[in-house]
Amino acid sequence: MPVDAQMFPARAVISTEALEHNLNRVRQRITGEKIMAIIKADAYGHGMWRCAQAFSRAGADYLGVAQLAEAVVLARRARQESVQLPPIFSWIFDDSADLCEALELGIELSVGTPWALRKLEETLEYSTRPARIHIAVDTGMSREGFAPAELPNATRTLARLEQTGRVTVVGVWSHLACADTSDTTTTHEQIKRFRSAIDVVHAGGVEAPLEHLAASGGALWYPEARFAMVRPGILLYGLSPEPAKETAEQIGLIPAMRLESSVIAERTIPAGQGVSYGHTFVSDSEMKVGIVPLGYADGIPRHASNVCEVLVGGRRARIRGRVCMDQCVVELPEGAGVESRVVMWGDPGRGEPGVWEWAEKMGTIGYEITTRLASRVPRVDE
Ligand SMILES: *Cc1c(COP(=O)(O)O)cnc(C)c1O
Repeated sequence: MPVDAQMFPARAVISTEALEHNLNRVRQRITGEKIMAIIKADAYGHGMWRCAQAFSRAGADYLGVAQLAEAVVLARRARQESVQLPPIFSWIFDDSADLCEALELGIELSVGTPWALRKLEETLEYSTRPARIHIAVDTGMSREGFAPAELPNATRTLARLEQTGRVTVVGVWSHLACADTSDTTTTHEQIKRFRSAIDVVHAGGVEAPLEHLAASGGALWYPEARFAMVRPGILLYGLSPEPAKETAEQIGLIPAMRLESSVIAERTIPAGQGVSYGHTFVSDSEMKVGIVPLGYADGIPRHASNVCEVLVGGRRARIRGRVCMDQCVVELPEGAGVESRVVMWGDPGRGEPGVWEWAEKMGTIGYEITTRLASRVPRVDE
């Protein structure tokens, strides 16, 4: 059940300006290739509808949504509200998906398994709309895409379907496994395999001009992986795919999300007092703590207990004791108390804790922090 946003004691403030700025920044960094703005998982937690429109305004050539179930909701809403969006590309669905509906909505689909190809053929028998598809090839990610051995057969089928006029093979695509690691060999090998796969498709009589391989890391650090189009996600939200290689600030990005709340209660505890479940924090001396109404049900990881910091009244404050389901306890800095503004994460450029700071303290990646922000936390425009 959606919450009453007005009454909810926290919000994720999303800067549309930052979203648009980041897309422009990516465009400056690449070399004229098309851009598919990736807005999967509710736009990495930032709200898919808002982000789709922002990236569309900033000139994205495509929108990419992993789950077809999400892509369909986006396409329906765009139609309902007569909002013109770039073409939507989607690559995850199972045999129960209604591809007819997807085609009717103009969604472009990935096909990378024999069953999906069969399903496409079946769908074409009763669909009134032709299909626009992108062939997925596995070049080393071992995730989506036809294996090299399957590709000639799949190409043959698609060439035949193209001749009926019911299918247009728009492109060929694959995904890099190691673009954000120090291993450059794997990426070069994947680029080579991708080129071979394209040759196989062409040899089979399928043109598939829109070749795409690189997500954020590949687009930034491997110019030769950019092909016709790049598929940045994390960069558009103002975060680096790997700050150890290049920080968001160095890339010139602005974080688009600030998670805000406020202190709803304060108390002074004596020395030796345990805090929150399990008393994993015990005060050494008398101290003031404050209650922040966000917990693991909101996507504040329980692993943040005792390690992550927030901003309270403009000053750094550590989470003390375990993060609870709906709230957590922070050590109050000088001058802070009830009603002090809390920033959980936001823009490190403004002294706010960054998403990657949170991630690194918990042994995860920035992606997981914004993506797991629960749907009950209202997203509001800056
Ligand atoms: C998630 C994803 C992207 C975007 O990845 P980022 O690292 O966020 O840029 C691009 N392509 C595919 C296939 C993906 O799954």
